[in-house]
Amino acid sequence: MNSDLALFLKSSEEILGGENVLSIRNQGLSNILKFSVDWRKKFFGKPLAVCFPNSSSQVSELVKLADKFNVPLIAQGGNTGLSGGATPSNDISQVVISMSRMNSIRSIDIVNKSLTVESGCSLRKLQDFAKNSSLLFPLDISSREDATIGGILATNAGGLSVLRYGSARDLCFGLEVVLSDGKIWNGLKSLKKDNSGYSLKNLFIGSEGTLGIITAASMCLYSEVLDRETYFVITRDITATVAVYNELQKIVNDNLTAFEFMSSDAIDLVMRYFPNRVPNFIGNIKSKIISIVELPRTNLYKDECLTERFEQLISSGIVFKWGFCKNKQATKLWALREAITYASAENGQQVKNDLSLPRSSISDFVTSVRKSILPKYPRVSLINFGHIGDGNLHFNVSPFFNEAFQKKEDRWKAHEVFLKKYEEKIRKDINDLVVDFSGSVSAEHGIGQLRREENIRLKSDVEINLMRGIKQYFDPKGIMNPGKLI
Ligand SMILES: Cc1cc2nc3c(=O)[nH]c(=O)nc-3n(C[C@H](O)[C@H](O)[C@H](O)COP(=O)(O)OP(=O)(O)OC[C@H]3O[C@@H](n4cnc5c(N)ncnc54)[C@H](O)[C@@H]3O)c2cc1C
Repeated sequence: MNSDLALFLKSSEEILGGENVLSIRNQGLSNILKFSVDWRKKFFGKPLAVCFPNSSSQVSELVKLADKFNVPLIAQGGNTGLSGGATPSNDISQVVISMSRMNSIRSIDIVNKSLTVESGCSLRKLQDFAKNSSLLFPLDISSREDATIGGILATNAGGLSVLRYGSARDLCFGLEVVLSDGKIWNGLKSLKKDNSGYSLKNLFIGSEGTLGIITAASMCLYSEVLDRETYFVITRDITATVAVYNELQKIVNDNLTAFEFMSSDAIDLVMRYFPNRVPNFIGNIKSKIISIVELPRTNLYKDECLTERFEQLISSGIVFKWGFCKNKQATKLWALREAITYASAENGQQVKNDLSLPRSSISDFVTSVRKSILPKYPRVSLINFGHIGDGNLHFNVSPFFNEAFQKKEDRWKAHEVFLKKYEEKIRKDINDLVVDFSGSVSAEHGIGQLRREENIRLKSDVEINLMRGIKQYFDPKGIMNPGKLI
């Protein structure tokens, strides 16, 4: 270990107390493994140490040290990110700053519907806190138990209710951030409107820890939605799914809270690993697409109106089957939707894509991939699911399931071999098409390490140079999460 790293370690122990600094030298890699490997087990790092500050001023002191000794810092929340953004390099030179001890809710303002929260607070804790005050924090993702507000803001996470409430960015009033020289920027306002110059908070949101470390945030709350209606809709193909979405939005005046879809390959995958997560009431859905439609129950649109329109869509051949879900059925349907990511993790690595497309192009895009890209490769499954109302497809390409690989280790190995050979090529082919359709290669998971090269390849020089300029200004020494995003 070079002397700068040793001095950083010694001083950080003095600031935080020895028990709040776990180093690879003292504790060994196995004791810091959960901070060193990403959720999908695709990126493996070896940090010099993991530090656990408990206040913004401790974060500030650590960053000042890192600035002095040139030590790269990786801010980490729940480590549930899906792009390798929170994984350190494997040369034992970077330090993970875990925000897990900074998890308190500082204050709530019921009248102005806002709260101020430390960035290591989990999404679940924040949701529950709002609920106990009869309010709603609407952002929801299935990693809610572990994902933190800091990570959610740093990746501008989306999730299951973007359609009605927007992404993390839309729910954030203000931030407190420790800058790369250790200064603390306090931008914790809770104003709906603030046109007093450049929107600094929006630079940090979505910056994946590359510009500064978010230590607290003021978030926006909504009135609780006490009663929701949930329907399932089965369609023959993606064109029909988008058509149903357009029809329903017209009836409910753009008031859907969710419209999620799952391809049959995605449901087959859940069937293979978590069969009790596939509810019987949806029946046989071979080669079809199932969507979950959710809206608040109000008097504005009556059930009969929706029923009538669903029946018309059946007569015109757009919808194959639909149904209203009672409470328990709705819970089961959502459990199916959430199980796809977990079943994918069980199955083995996939070529993961998190695409954003204009909704009107989704159908042509999927057809083009099936016609012009997939035939170039060995047979695959297209695990296509996600937030179709937002134009967001989790468009994952998995090696086709082979009965010979029932054993997890064999299957994982076979997937690794496939990915080694084809991952880059498949991703490039798909991304080129995304650009042709005026889409984006990341809708909500961010760039991290996974999409960094592709993002740089596909963006214009003008855009990349602007981003590099911003990075250079905020982090001149390059100590904030180097090797990610840009
Ligand atoms: C099962 C599952 C389902 C998911 N579903 C969705 C979904 O529907 N929608 C969606 O958008 N995402 C989803 N995700 C991805 C993930 O949960 C989100 O990206 C989440 O926002 C990450 O939060 P985290 O605290 O775990 O961040 P981490 O993984 O710890 O970090 C993610 C990035 O944020 C940075 N970061 C973390 N904390 C800070 C901070 N305090 N200051 C500055 N930078 C920071 C890290 O350096 C890294 O670049 C899912 C993940 C899983 C495992």
